[in-house]
Parts: sequence; structure tokens; C-alpha cells
Amino acid sequence: MANKEIPYKIYLEESELPRQWYNVRADMKNKPAPLLNPKTLQPCTLEELSEVFCTELARQELDDTTPYIDIPDEIIDFYKMYRPAPLTRAYCLEKALGTPAKIYYKFEGNNTSGSHKLNSAIAQAYYAKKQGLKGVTTETGAGQWGTALSMACAYLGLDCKVFMVKCSYEQKPFRREVMRTYGANVTPSPSMLTEVGRKINEQFPGTNGSLGCAISEAVEAASNMEGYRYVLGSVLSQVLLHQTVIGLEAQAAFRKYNEKPDIIIGCAGGGSNLGGLISPFMGEKLRGEADYEFIAVEPSSCPSLTRGIYAYDYCDTGAVCPLQKMYTLGSTFMPASSHAGGLRYHGMSSVLSQLYDDGLMTARSVKQTEVFEAAQQFARVEGILPAPESSHAIKVAIDEALKCKETGEEKTILFGLTGTGYFDMYAYQKFNDGVMGDYVPTDEEIKEAIDRMPKI
Ligand SMILES: *Cc1c(COP(=O)(O)O)cnc(C)c1O
Repeated sequence: MANKEIPYKIYLEESELPRQWYNVRADMKNKPAPLLNPKTLQPCTLEELSEVFCTELARQELDDTTPYIDIPDEIIDFYKMYRPAPLTRAYCLEKALGTPAKIYYKFEGNNTSGSHKLNSAIAQAYYAKKQGLKGVTTETGAGQWGTALSMACAYLGLDCKVFMVKCSYEQKPFRREVMRTYGANVTPSPSMLTEVGRKINEQFPGTNGSLGCAISEAVEAASNMEGYRYVLGSVLSQVLLHQTVIGLEAQAAFRKYNEKPDIIIGCAGGGSNLGGLISPFMGEKLRGEADYEFIAVEPSSCPSLTRGIYAYDYCDTGAVCPLQKMYTLGSTFMPASSHAGGLRYHGMSSVLSQLYDDGLMTARSVKQTEVFEAAQQFARVEGILPAPESSHAIKVAIDEALKCKETGEEKTILFGLTGTGYFDMYAYQKFNDGVMGDYVPTDEEIKEAIDRMPKI
């Protein structure tokens, strides 16, 4: 049956904003393995997790059974400032590629923080405020998460302390200034403010820092201050849960036109945008109602799903966070500097790791220069300047559309366009000047970090 003519953008009404997040763990037969206390190696209890995270968020982290969780009205009101996000049919890209495939994307970069991270930032800040806390601490790598969190904290009148990986702090001064404009306190990490930071500075003088190290500093800082908790922008199951607004909106938009994707693609750093995009569709698959192909795309410089192992590992350098069973390259793995800073994390969400291990999702790694080629092609025909992270998904969406051109199949492809590239012009400059490189770690480098992992 012919569908109604599909517009370039499928808009949802404000009243169609999802009222509940969807918790895919409730429909998973094999649940993700429990978080372990790094001292006792026993599964973390609610009390233990509540020392690090807000109690309500700790509860969400441990909840493997409730399929739908109400979104508080205050969070919905905040979502209304920038959601629902339209689902866009990439007619211009389809035409440029000459493919019979239908390509759709969900753009999450239409807010000042420039990415999907705001969806979880407001939720985490809200629960902290509701618990009566004074403030939160966090890490930020490329800067998107710190920006999103500082926006959410400003809105709610909560203090926000951000440990920003030192090389980003220096390379991305404008990100830093956005955070400060929203009232956040930004410290380059490793700093001399925490024991962990001082130790790392002593061990590795002149280090540029890493996400794992900034996490340890933020956790320590929160535990030393009365009325503060730590919040994290990806990896955790609570973050995946909040990001399901992306997938739920996409699902609602498709339903309006009686459409359904065959392939769903997203970039994967810690896994939150991909998990949020695919969760509602994965739920249908898990319940046997529909079938979809899911593809996670990671940078070949930090290939946790495609070259890592599935095991318990530390989430941070200082080993202060709970241990998580996940696909990982080892917490001591130091990815080469890459222009997709948001994808430079050694591990992957435990939910996605389990789904991948069960064969319900596939993964691919792609090289930096081919990612920027795809970004450029996309920008020139679709108008949006994409974030380097998001462009990983664009690359594979284009690959799949070109496959359809060869086979003549009219598949429907959906990909997540997680953010804008406005703060990444230094990377685009390198690409435009033809001096961007591709770094792929050797087997020895990966083995070395994996050998250093805890044996649990
Ligand atoms: C942080 C970020 C990512 C990767 O994080 P996930 O948790 O894997 O989603 C992807 N795209 C953008 C624009 C980001 O800021």
C-alpha cells in the first residue's frame, strides 16, 4: 500500500512528547551483569550506589524490570524548549547517492549544547535538585557533556563543577567559556585539587589527561563535599534510559506515515545515544513483534566492540567507580588523540554490550578520514554541519545506501545525528588542509591494555 507523501521533516506536536522513558532491560532475557563494588567485588547495593549517585538515579541504574518509567513534569517542561526533534527524510542525500534506499535521520544538535546529552543532563540535575543537593560534579572530554550539564544546572539553580580533560580545556577554549557562561566551575584534569589528580600528575608529568582520569577526579571531589553527587554523561544504564526519548520520538514519527526502518545506525562512544535510539525498536525485536538490523559504529582508533573483550573492567583510571561488565579495551588503554573526542572511551554500556554479545546488534569500526569525507558529503547536500562523532553514523548509513544501489533493494535506513560540528572546526580545518591522519592501534597495544585488566 502506498504511503502518504513523506515530507522532508516529520514533526511531532508538543503533546506527543514521550511521557515515559522505556527501559529495554525489562525485555532482555539476558540482563546486563550487575555493577560490582570495587572494594568488595560484590554486586553494588542501592545504599552503596547512593553514596556516589543521587538515590533516584541509583534506583534507575539497578532497575532491570520496570519497562516504562514516568518522566517528571519538570523534565518534560525543559524538553519542550528543544523537543520534539523532527525526523528528517534525507531526500537530498538519497538523490546525490542515486540510491533506492530511503534515508532518515534524527537530529539532536538543535540546542545550545549542540548534542543529545542535554536529554540526560536535565534528568540527572533534576533528581539531584529534588534530593536537596547543593551541586554535582562531572567530567567532560570533548566538552559536550559538561556544556549540557551546566545548562541544566543553571536552569535548576544547582552548582556544577566540571573536570575537563586537559587537552580539550586547552584546545577548546570556547566550550569552556560556554560552560562558564552557564555558571559552571571548570578545572583542567588532572588537577592538583584531588588526591587522584595529584598522583597522576606526579606519575605522568605533563600529561594531557584522559576521560578515565577526569571521572576519578570528579567522583573524589563529590565524595569530599557535603551535598554533592557525581553525574556521568554516558555508559550508565540510567543515561541510556533518559536517551530513549530519541528512539520513542523516532518511532512515533515513523508511525504517522506507516513507515518502519529496516536498519538503524548510531555512533557509539559510551553507547547512550545509540542505546536511546534503538531501545524502543530493540524492545519490539526482543518481544518478537518486529525485526530490525542494528549497527553500532565506533572509531577504528578506539574499537571497544569490534576489538575489545567482554569482561569486568574499571570505568575510570583511579578505580573508584563500580566495576562494570562490558566490551572494553582495558581502562589503561590510551586511545590516540582523535577528533571525535566523544567516542574516545575504553568501554561500552553494559546494556549494549550484552545485546551485542547476544548477537542482537552488530558493530563496525571506521577510520577518521573516511568519516570526515562522509561528513563533508552530508553537509554539502543536507545543509547541516555534523559533529565528527555523529559522522561515524553518516559514514555507515551512506555505505548501506550504496549497497542498496548495487542490489536494487529499497531498504529504509535510520541513523542518529547526535550533534552539530560547530565546535570542531579545528578538526574540519585539518581535514580540509589534507593533513588529517588515521590511527589504528596494533594488536600488541590492545593486548597490553587488556592484559592489565582486573581478573574477575
Ligand atoms: C558524547 C557524544 C557522542 C557519544 O556518546 P554516546 O554516549 O556513545 O552517545 C556522540 N555524539 C556526540 C555529538 C556526542 O557529544
